[in-house]
Amino acid sequence: MAEPDAAARLTVELTAGLSTADLADFYQDLHRHPELSFREHRTAAKLAGRLKAAGYQVTEGVAGTGVVGVLSTGAGPVVWLRADLDALPVEEATGLPYASAAGGVMHACGHDLHVTWLAAAADALAAARDVWSGTVVVIGQPAEEAGGGAAAMVADGLHERFPRPDVLLGQHVAPGPPGLYPHRAGLVMSASDDVDVVVHGVGGHGSRPEATVDPIVTAAHIVTRLQTVVSREVAARESAVLTVGRFEAGTEHNVIPDRARLALNLRTQDPSVRRRVLSAVRRVVDGECRAAGCPAPPGFEVVSGYPATFNDAGLDAEVAAVHRALFGAQSVIDAGPVMGSEDFSLLAPEGVPYDYWFVTSTPAAVWEAAPGEGLLEKFDAVPGNHSPLFAPDASVLLPGVRTLVSAALSRLA
Ligand code: ZN
Ligand code: ZN
Repeated sequence: MAEPDAAARLTVELTAGLSTADLADFYQDLHRHPELSFREHRTAAKLAGRLKAAGYQVTEGVAGTGVVGVLSTGAGPVVWLRADLDALPVEEATGLPYASAAGGVMHACGHDLHVTWLAAAADALAAARDVWSGTVVVIGQPAEEAGGGAAAMVADGLHERFPRPDVLLGQHVAPGPPGLYPHRAGLVMSASDDVDVVVHGVGGHGSRPEATVDPIVTAAHIVTRLQTVVSREVAARESAVLTVGRFEAGTEHNVIPDRARLALNLRTQDPSVRRRVLSAVRRVVDGECRAAGCPAPPGFEVVSGYPATFNDAGLDAEVAAVHRALFGAQSVIDAGPVMGSEDFSLLAPEGVPYDYWFVTSTPAAVWEAAPGEGLLEKFDAVPGNHSPLFAPDASVLLPGVRTLVSAALSRLA
């Protein structure tokens, strides 16, 4: 395991030759051609091509569009490096010269940057294969945004078909003045659950509500009452967000439909809060349906939960130390856990430590012009992940390669 200063020095040396023009070309090409979850064929092929050219043994088609590259230089630790490949159904509004050419699809979460960083880090580590010993496994994961790509890769044999990791490392681009590397031991991202609710009513003529059980009114009561779950049943020291993201019912002005559907999303940071909120949601849904006299119990299904992401404290301290050595002590901050969620942690086999950090990327001029006083006020004022205006600054291309290379080197023998 290399000392932080040595790993940082070696990283600067190994990445000094990387051309930022090449990085920008690769990145802008990915940005122009975004692909939705599990359809990342072109993106996966680009990554696989780079890995093959660098001498990695590449397996494509893991869970459909997943890519795994393995490079072993001898005995030593096995380090897994991960990037996600997919884009979002967002219409890009940045006006950038390399804006999305795929209408209605955009790399609005910066996964194109993640792939660029990973490909270039893989190149740099391969070019320096005589200075380290161990195995680097590079993972291009499909479908982080929708569909559970990490779980799909595990189901497709990720843990059996490739060398077992000693550590799993990953990073995400985030808003913030360029040059910060938020790190955190323990809880870094929240658990996410989706809940589908179906309210069964009795349909009929809009002029004769007395002959119906109106599911729209019942579902509206549910939405309103759910607003008290977090505000009245979760303590101030705990964290939870409950959002009704979809409310569907009805077809015509004068028809009372026979059902209404609600789609909920829940974010929590503690398993007991998660259990409590889910059971409160269930209680509210059941209770409102009973109060309305619904003819059948409501449909209630909890689907596609991502677990909370808990960084290993020792590993995070180690990687943060290398990043401090690289970028300066003030560059590594703890901004607290976020309510966002990730399936990154599912890639790690049981008991394998992982670390996940952020790289801030708002262009300096945009950050300075944003209203607000401190970091957090400005953070809320600049375009964030999933915004049609999300546009990371080109100055983060090289630093995001160095974060990965240095973190890997700190572990490799
Ligand atoms: Zn996202
Ligand atoms: Zn993302």
